[in-house]
Amino acid sequence: MSGAKMGTRFWERKKLDQMTAPEWEALCDGCGKCCLNKLEDEDTGDVALTRVACRLLDDATCRCAHYENRHQFVPDCIVLKPSNLDTHAYWMPQTCAYRLLWEGKSLPEWHPLLTGTAQSVHDAGVSVQNMTVSEFDVPDEDWEDYIIEEPT
Ligand code: SF4
Ligand code: SF4
Repeated sequence: MSGAKMGTRFWERKKLDQMTAPEWEALCDGCGKCCLNKLEDEDTGDVALTRVACRLLDDATCRCAHYENRHQFVPDCIVLKPSNLDTHAYWMPQTCAYRLLWEGKSLPEWHPLLTGTAQSVHDAGVSVQNMTVSEFDVPDEDWEDYIIEEPT
């Protein structure tokens, strides 16, 4: 995270499209759940989460190993913005701060912006720490065997 100053509880005072870039980035709690591969049913639109992670996800920290230049390796990694949240919210994790605020809800008490430490996400059991397998190791046709419930 940058050292830029952020106002107190800015997420309660500002709309998503009023936030500065550092504020927007700070909303991410580092759960890693959006970096898991999903299976979407073409007929029903249902989305199933798997524990097969993107090649760049660090299973220990739950962070992207090359966040700044990730598009060199994963060109289709989504750049989430206030303007595209409505098209992505349906598949985003239930606890994702962007989704919660977009739905008009509060941040959970374990969010790092409230606790002051990234560890609180792991301690609350809502991250994917130590539970993923890399997409390098599981062929696409086997992903169905790795479907999980979202840790919440
Ligand atoms: S699901 Fe949301 S809060 Fe969790 S890592 Fe992804 S963007 Fe961040
Ligand atoms: S490229 Fe990085 S941010 Fe994008 S899905 Fe993969 S691990 Fe997550």
